[in-house]
Amino acid sequence: MHKNYYPKIGLEIHIQLKTNTKLFCGCKNEYGAIPNTNVCPVCLGYPGVLPSLNIESVKMALKTALALNAKINTKSRFYRKNYFYPDLPKGYQITQYSESIAENGTMKILTENSVREITIERMNIEEEAARSIHTQQDEVLLDFNRSGIPLLEVVTEPCIESPAEAKAFLEKFRDYIRFLKISDCNMERGELRVDSNISVSRDPSELGVKVELKNLNSFKAVNEALNYEIERQIRTLKHGGKIVRETRLWDEYKGESRPMRKKEESMDYRYFPEPDLPVVILNDEFIEDIKRNMPELPDTKFERYVRIYGLSTEQARLIAFDRELSEIFDSVSKKTKDQKTVANWLTVVIPGYMRENQSITDINCEDLVRLEQSLTSGFITHNQAKEILARFFEKGIPIPISLTEFEHLQSSVTDEMLEKVVDEVLAEQKDLVEKYLSGKTSVLQAILGQCMRKLKGLGDPIKLKEILERKLK
Ligand SMILES: [Zn+2]
Repeated sequence: MHKNYYPKIGLEIHIQLKTNTKLFCGCKNEYGAIPNTNVCPVCLGYPGVLPSLNIESVKMALKTALALNAKINTKSRFYRKNYFYPDLPKGYQITQYSESIAENGTMKILTENSVREITIERMNIEEEAARSIHTQQDEVLLDFNRSGIPLLEVVTEPCIESPAEAKAFLEKFRDYIRFLKISDCNMERGELRVDSNISVSRDPSELGVKVELKNLNSFKAVNEALNYEIERQIRTLKHGGKIVRETRLWDEYKGESRPMRKKEESMDYRYFPEPDLPVVILNDEFIEDIKRNMPELPDTKFERYVRIYGLSTEQARLIAFDRELSEIFDSVSKKTKDQKTVANWLTVVIPGYMRENQSITDINCEDLVRLEQSLTSGFITHNQAKEILARFFEKGIPIPISLTEFEHLQSSVTDEMLEKVVDEVLAEQKDLVEKYLSGKTSVLQAILGQCMRKLKGLGDPIKLKEILERKLK
C-alpha cells in the first residue's frame, strides 16, 4: 500500500445468537415481532428482578470457541458495565469483562498469495440493548424486543495488516458462524456488527497510536472505512502531524470518518462483578458433550474434498462452507464412485434447474445415489442424468426407482400402457377432471403429474399430454 508505513487492524465483532429465548429471561428472541411485545420485567430493567443465564447461549459460545481453536475458560464471570442511555433501562449492561468465556483462538485465512493466521484475543457473552429508531420528525422510538438478546463479542488481536485481510477474515468468520447455525449474520438486521481499531506505524514491530472506528454496517463499509483511515493516518504522519487517540464514526454516505470522542472523554464504565449471577463453572462433561456434537468444520471438509475426491478448490469451497450442501454431498459421496459428477450436479446442474421456491434439499440423497449408480454402471449417459434432474425440478417427475427398472421400462412403455394409465388416473382424480371440464385448464399439469408418477417418471410426456387432452374432450 504505502512503503515504510505499516497498518495494524484489530476487529471487534458482535453477533446476535440465534437462541429461542433471550439471555437472562424467557422472552422470545425473534426478529420482526410487533415492537415491545417480547418483553418482561427482567429485560425492561425493573428494579429487584433476577437474571437467569440461558444455557443455550453458553453452548453456542463454546461451539464458536472450538471452531476458532480457542481456549475455553472453565471459570468465567459476568460484570456490570455502567452507563446511561435511553436504550439501556437498567443503567448498566451485563457483559463479561476480564474473565471471558474463551480466549486465544486462531483462524487461518487465505490472502492473495499466502495463508495468514489471525489471532482471536477473547470472546465474551453479553446482552443486547434495546433498539432505538430515529424518525424523520426527530423523535426517538424504543423497541425493547431487542433488549436482552444474547450477543457474542469476538475480539481479534491487532494483527490484521490490510483492509483486504480484514475482509477475508470477516467473510470466513461469518461463513463459519452460519455453518454452525449460531447466527444468520444478516448485517442489515444488525445480526453481525463490526467495530475496528487501526493504527499506522513506521516500524513493523511496533503499534502506532490507535484510532477506533465505529458504525461499520456492511463489509463494503469496513473496507472503505479502513482504507480511508489508513490514508488519513499516513497523510497526517507524512506531514509531521500526530495521530490523536480517539473514536471516529464512519459516515457511509459521505465516505469519510469524523471524530466522535477523544480519549480524555472516554467513558469510565465502573465495571464490577454482577452480584445477581453466579460464576460460570463449566465441567469437563459439559465441554466434552459440545465437542462430541460438533460438525466436521468447513476447512477440514474442504481439504478432504480436494485431496480424496479431487474436486476443484472452487467447487470444494462452495460445498464445504454450505451446511446443507455439504451434508447432502457427504451422504451421497459415501455411497458413490464419481464424486466429481455429484459435486457438479449439486453446484452447477441442479441450481440451474431450480425455481425460486425450490431448495437443493427437495431432492433426497437416495435419489442422487441411484442416479450416480445408473450413470457409472452405464445405464444412462451424463446428458440423460441431467435430463432426469431437469424433469425432477422443473416438472416434479420422480427419479426412476431402479436401474434395471429404468432400462426395462424405458423400452417397454407402449402406447397402450399410456392409454391405460390415463384411464386409471382420470377415474381416480374425479375432482381434478371436474375442475378441468369447468374451464380450469391449469389442472391438466397436476393430472399429467399423476400419470407420470404411475409411470415412475418414464413415458413420453408430450404423447401423454395428447392422450390426456383427447380423452378429456
Ligand atoms: Zn424478558
